[in-house]
Amino acid sequence: MTGAAGFLGSHLSERLLAGGHEVVGIDAFTGFYARRLKERNLAALRVARGFDLYERDVLDGGLCDLLRGAEVACHLAGRPGVRTGGAAAFEAANVGATRALVRAAASAGLTRVVLASSSSVYGACSGPVAEDAPLAPLSPYGHSKRRAELVAADLAGKLGIELVRLRYFTVYGPRQRPDMAFARFVAAALDGGAMPLLGGGAQRRDFTYVADACEATALALERGPAGAVYNVAGGRSVALADALALLGERLGREPAFEHRAADGREPRATEADLTLAARELGWAPRVGLVEGIECQLAHAGAELEDLAGWA
Ligand code: NAD
Repeated sequence: MTGAAGFLGSHLSERLLAGGHEVVGIDAFTGFYARRLKERNLAALRVARGFDLYERDVLDGGLCDLLRGAEVACHLAGRPGVRTGGAAAFEAANVGATRALVRAAASAGLTRVVLASSSSVYGACSGPVAEDAPLAPLSPYGHSKRRAELVAADLAGKLGIELVRLRYFTVYGPRQRPDMAFARFVAAALDGGAMPLLGGGAQRRDFTYVADACEATALALERGPAGAVYNVAGGRSVALADALALLGERLGREPAFEHRAADGREPRATEADLTLAARELGWAPRVGLVEGIECQLAHAGAELEDLAGWA
């Protein structure tokens, strides 16, 4: 698994170990956020049986030796974030790394690759989008995820790899990436700082609890058919302001907001049609927003020190 030290990668590694699998984790500890947060993500994995971590950049080559002996690969490594970074940085981190991973997987004799893509490939949408909806990304990040999907599909076809693409919709939960809205809200509320809020929080998101995202990914690794693309989402689109109000209510306090204009690189709304994943993977999200937020908050106190000053 690439990106094993990240938010999703560390949770997925734990899920796969619990399911009796062995995991070879690869991560470059890129500077997008602090290394100490990734060490926090890895705390339980470092002492777990069946987990090995290699500090390696997918773009540096030499992956084939690490992958040999594995059956499937999950490619989570990449540069996230719709509001920072230019096209060239995203192209290398998301498209170049995907190309390198699929090639290495084929050379190592793997049968299947699951690729982390994003709801950002859809761009603006009104109402639930199915996987065959037109793709019109708004940000360099979204464009790079779309290109990564295309490059991976092309290479997988040529190299005989079964490729499954997962489009995750705004994932949250314990150890959430520190640049994401819930983590920023909690950090600002607990340390008395202010949280930047774009467009009054009117943007709607289909928030996905991390354990649900990991379950969908584990099923895709196990049985996703070649060429498939699946939305992975929480099952309900909620305004960010309402989700933050819920967080504030459960936390018993709210940060001050720094109000800013909406950012054109972010869609006003995301909402997934989950019919395909239900039919073909037998997957549906289980954790609703209230329960998920409570789980994230249950870990928040311990995480606060790590979250403060993440940039
Ligand atoms: P994250 O930043 O926490 O994890 C990504 C990890 O990949 C990091 O630990 C980083 O060091 C590593 N990495 C990056 N480039 C690498 C490279 N070239 N070689 C080796 N390691 C590298 O991000 P996350 O939130 O866990 O997201 C994981 C994946 O899911 C990403 O591809 C992201 O675009 C995608 N995604 C995430 C969300 C979400 O809500 N978290 C939503 C949609 C898509």
